[in-house]
Amino acid sequence: MKNILAIAFLLFSSGSFAQFKTDKIAASEQKQLTQNHKKKHPGSINNSNIIYQRLEVQVNPAIYFIAGNVTTHFIPSGPIQFIEFDLSDSMTVDSIIFHNTAISFTHSADVIHIVFPSQLPADDEDSVKVYYHGLPFWNSGFGSFVQNVHGLDNTPVIWTLSEPYGAKDWWPCKQDLTDKIDSLDVIITTPKIYRAASNGLLVKETTIDSSKTYYWKHRYPIAAYLVCLAVSNYDVFYNYVPFGADTLPVMNFVYPEDSATLRDHSVDVISTMQLYDTLFGLYPFDKEKYGMVEFGWDGGMEHQTMTFVRNFDFELIAHELAHHWFGDKVTCASWHDIWLNEGFATYLSVLCYEHIAPIWYMPAKMEHMYGATNNPNGSVWCDDTTSVDRIFDSDMSYSKGAMVLHMLRWKLGDSLFFAGLRNYLTDVNNAYAFAATPDLQAHLETTSGMDLSQFFNTWVYGKGFPSYQIDWAQNFSNHVDLVINQTQSDPSVPFFSMPLPLKFKNALHDTIVVFNHTFSGQTFSVDLPFAADSLIFDPDLWIISAYDTITNDYIPSNIIAGRSDYNFSLRLSPNPVARLLRIQVQAAVEKSAEIKIVNSLGQFVQKYQQQLLPGVNSFQVNVAGWASGAYHVSIQAGGNTIKSTFVVLSDK
Ligand SMILES: [Zn+2]
Repeated sequence: MKNILAIAFLLFSSGSFAQFKTDKIAASEQKQLTQNHKKKHPGSINNSNIIYQRLEVQVNPAIYFIAGNVTTHFIPSGPIQFIEFDLSDSMTVDSIIFHNTAISFTHSADVIHIVFPSQLPADDEDSVKVYYHGLPFWNSGFGSFVQNVHGLDNTPVIWTLSEPYGAKDWWPCKQDLTDKIDSLDVIITTPKIYRAASNGLLVKETTIDSSKTYYWKHRYPIAAYLVCLAVSNYDVFYNYVPFGADTLPVMNFVYPEDSATLRDHSVDVISTMQLYDTLFGLYPFDKEKYGMVEFGWDGGMEHQTMTFVRNFDFELIAHELAHHWFGDKVTCASWHDIWLNEGFATYLSVLCYEHIAPIWYMPAKMEHMYGATNNPNGSVWCDDTTSVDRIFDSDMSYSKGAMVLHMLRWKLGDSLFFAGLRNYLTDVNNAYAFAATPDLQAHLETTSGMDLSQFFNTWVYGKGFPSYQIDWAQNFSNHVDLVINQTQSDPSVPFFSMPLPLKFKNALHDTIVVFNHTFSGQTFSVDLPFAADSLIFDPDLWIISAYDTITNDYIPSNIIAGRSDYNFSLRLSPNPVARLLRIQVQAAVEKSAEIKIVNSLGQFVQKYQQQLLPGVNSFQVNVAGWASGAYHVSIQAGGNTIKSTFVVLSDK
């Protein structure tokens, strides 16, 4: 799910790719969830495995109403006397049919409790059919069952958007995150001037008098919140994604007035899906189709095989399609783990920029880095699922989740990172089922051979982010010493350990050196092949951090004790010299120095005091007229002395 912000985070000018609106991704969703969540109740009891559901509903977009029946095939987990479904109290249950007979039930606290005439044995498939009708209660503009209009003639549309707790608002279901419906049919009857979209394949359309019935068939496991319908006077057109020797149809349902524009934009799905196929394995619902349906909610929702999108912008297409690997095929096992849906979908849209529209790659990372460090006390893992704002926190669940994945990629390297994700996606315990954060960690550890417990404890479960303070110095031999300190924005994490990339550069050269930072105050040294004039921390934005500082006056403690060249160092040029000798003295701190020049006989030629400032001090000595031969320079400051020799070649 992704909500588009009305006023974008303005990092750069608008463009077809400029959809950086993540900091408000879930605003509307939160309102919807808040309303639903006020009715706190435990939900239905799960004592069966749902293996098939068939929704047969009548929907006229001109009338805010739904009526129909839902047939559920189930296998009792043990001997059971009853079964329960979630359905909002605002809906009316007309009857419940079991073995062709109406049976008794109660309906309260949003749960239908159905008592069987006798106990059902474990492991025997059975079925029950619920007839119902009503006006779904949550009818705000952000609700789970929404009536709206579009176009100049105010054509009506009805759509659903059930994530996370709204499926029960419009159909009797099991909306927990433990049992997917193994197989689904959605049969929608509507006035024949409209078209109805849903999950899976459209296998049949029948017209009777003024009504038309659309038969949608889906043969992949699906979570209840991903079941959908949308009905309006849709234009339908197709794109095709090359798919090995075959093609995958992409079915687009758009408002007629937007058809021309959205046809142009819709082709972005082709390159996006090809990229995901390459990185994460074939589109998970390849035996059916992908679809995109225009709707009026200001964002997108990853209904399985039939995404609903407000517009067909690049990032929105990328985000919702990404959910078909991360969210639909592998669904978060609880709302604590929502980042496994949203962090991944956010990161995959960053990958689309990297591979398809690279000029937006760095801005996308900047935007998510901003989000990831926007809350100094937030964690990726959702520690409070009673707070709806927290579950769909666009900074923590979306941006920080995405940047944590980016850091795992940095830590593991591309090959192991993507291999680990493919293993996570294909694990039979996760695929077409549910996964929690430890499942992801286990796969990345198994694939890489690394122990990632500290990484997950600090970056995923822990709160906040680090700030780095880097102090460095380079001597005239191009040897660099540096110290890296770290502070943390939240006391829950004593230290964030990461390999840190530092870029040394001057006008002609640059190089990135990676330092494995394992404690604050850690010192490092490296020999560079050039004199660097600046140091840049993490130039490619791999590491979540903020408020970092870099200083260039480092004096290593071991150097103060002995090696004078770090207190100040000396360079003489040209050498030999005929006229003007340039003396360069690099000092770490301000100090007064005594400079002496003696000839080969030990006689003073010059002697004077010079105030040295931090950095490189440069001054000249005119040697014109001096006798040819060797001369010695000594500079004494702060108890240290440095010496060098130069040769005068007299032009006399
Ligand atoms: Zn999403």
